[in-house]
Amino acid sequence: MGSFNLKELDLEAQQLWENYSTKELTNRERMAIPDQHMATQEVAVRVTNMEEVALGYSEAQVRVEALRCLQCKNAPCITGCPVQINIPRFIALVGEGKFGEAVGVIKESSLLPAICGRVCPQEVQCQLPCTVGKSLKSVEKAVNIGRIERFVADWEMQKGATKVPSIAPPTGKKVAVVGSGPASMTAAADLRRAGHQVVMFEALHKTGGVLVYGIPEFRLPKEIVRREFETLIAMGVEIETNFLVGRTSKLKELIESEGFDAVFLGTGAGLPRFLKIEGENLVGVFSANEYLTRSNLMKAYERGKAGTPIYNSKRVAVFGGGNVAMDAARTALRLGAENVTVVYRRSETEMPARREEIEHAKEEGIEFLFLHAPLKILGSEKGRVRGVELIRCELGEPDASGRRSPVEIKGSESLYPCDTVIVAIGNDSNPLVKQTTEGLVVNKRGNIVVEEETCKTSLEGVYAGGDIVLGAATVILAMGQGRRAAKAMNQYLEGLADN
Ligand code: FAD
Ligand code: SF4
Ligand code: SF4
Repeated sequence: MGSFNLKELDLEAQQLWENYSTKELTNRERMAIPDQHMATQEVAVRVTNMEEVALGYSEAQVRVEALRCLQCKNAPCITGCPVQINIPRFIALVGEGKFGEAVGVIKESSLLPAICGRVCPQEVQCQLPCTVGKSLKSVEKAVNIGRIERFVADWEMQKGATKVPSIAPPTGKKVAVVGSGPASMTAAADLRRAGHQVVMFEALHKTGGVLVYGIPEFRLPKEIVRREFETLIAMGVEIETNFLVGRTSKLKELIESEGFDAVFLGTGAGLPRFLKIEGENLVGVFSANEYLTRSNLMKAYERGKAGTPIYNSKRVAVFGGGNVAMDAARTALRLGAENVTVVYRRSETEMPARREEIEHAKEEGIEFLFLHAPLKILGSEKGRVRGVELIRCELGEPDASGRRSPVEIKGSESLYPCDTVIVAIGNDSNPLVKQTTEGLVVNKRGNIVVEEETCKTSLEGVYAGGDIVLGAATVILAMGQGRRAAKAMNQYLEGLADN
């Protein structure tokens, strides 16, 4: 990929627009239009700051990219989007320069386009089945749907054109939304729109869930999430932070004593998994959750200013291959580590992280050690990390996830010297609500069991969605469940009103 200069890209796009926009284009001509790269901060500069790496399209670029869309009648891209945004329709509007109308189309299905345009794994969702990518035999050549989505959402915010949705007359019903991540944000908006009183309870002192404490500023500026909350507040959603459901009040108390008619649980998967190997208690071993929360939520990267310290590292080993591992590695680099290596048990092909994050990490000098697994973490006399014993792996048969599983090669042990270990091998569901709520059915992984269509739990009036149901998943899947649950809850509450 490389770094791309916005000015140069814009000039090229203006030229292309002049050439192509005046004539009726055949599909062949559309597919010959170069796909538009996104400008990024220069590598040498961005590794020294926490600001957003990807700079977005210029207006000329977004219109040229829109010209690449063939407006397919069967629109396979729509089936790839978990919330079925009408992609060809919004892209056609972008091509006509009607950015406001384009956002309107997206918002019929997705409430948070500025966020999804940035963090959706598009290459395995909407862009995977795109006809252009298929015809050019590379998913990287698919129409850049996510980038177009990001552009129009940013345009709306910059123009101050974000509309506060209209609210139905008061229903007299009161709903609790537990958690404030994307599942809860979507559910809260849809429930409030129907005229219910909505109170959101968040355990932390800041709202936004993983969007704020997990995903770093350099991928998702917190200002975007803050603005989404401004809209929720303008709609009349009440927000209580530092409120831990299960401790501050139990779920059943909210219903039985505090007068809530229904509850949405969007408590996420914030419980880090560990490697369960010797040495995990040494000083210098962190879960990615803790590491990223310290950096993002407590702004530990503002050294000297922030009240929360963060570990000074020189050589860091990050275990895992997903977005969380990429975020932790790139954060460690920005916090001053001299060498950061991502150690992954499988090969690059099986890595679940977004392609763009992997490319950005490589550009920034993050090293990758594929097909290696940790055996134990070694400590110094003072109980600090001094290295990790690794073993080489080869790929065996596919496992339950469909990916080929790593098989350790006996006798291939080696020592990797480092002073910090960050474990990013996944998260489990937050267990507190389950532990404090009798009758709430969960599966063996601790995820709340819900009816697929309605997101209804085993308890009357209680619905759940997002990572607490799906296990660690994605923003758009969490939002989709929040929306589905709110629809069913609105019907449920309407039923109560009739009684
Ligand atoms: P969350 O976002 O986890 O929010 C749950 C909220 O509930 C939290 O704020 C928590 O404090 C609160 N809570 C928990 N228990 C209680 C309680 N008892 N009482 C009150 N509040 C409570 N997905 C993508 O699509 N693309 C990405 O690039 C991506 N990158 C990621 C990077 C990182 C570092 C992480 C950790 C995840 C990433 N994900 C990504 C996954 C994505 O962020 C999650 O799938 C999504 O945020 C789940 O949303 P949610 O609303 O279910 O829960
Ligand atoms: Fe693609 Fe995500 Fe937008 Fe759907 S919400 S169109 S998957 S970027
Ligand atoms: Fe456009 Fe690709 Fe969707 Fe076809 S599949 S309508 S080319 S975005």
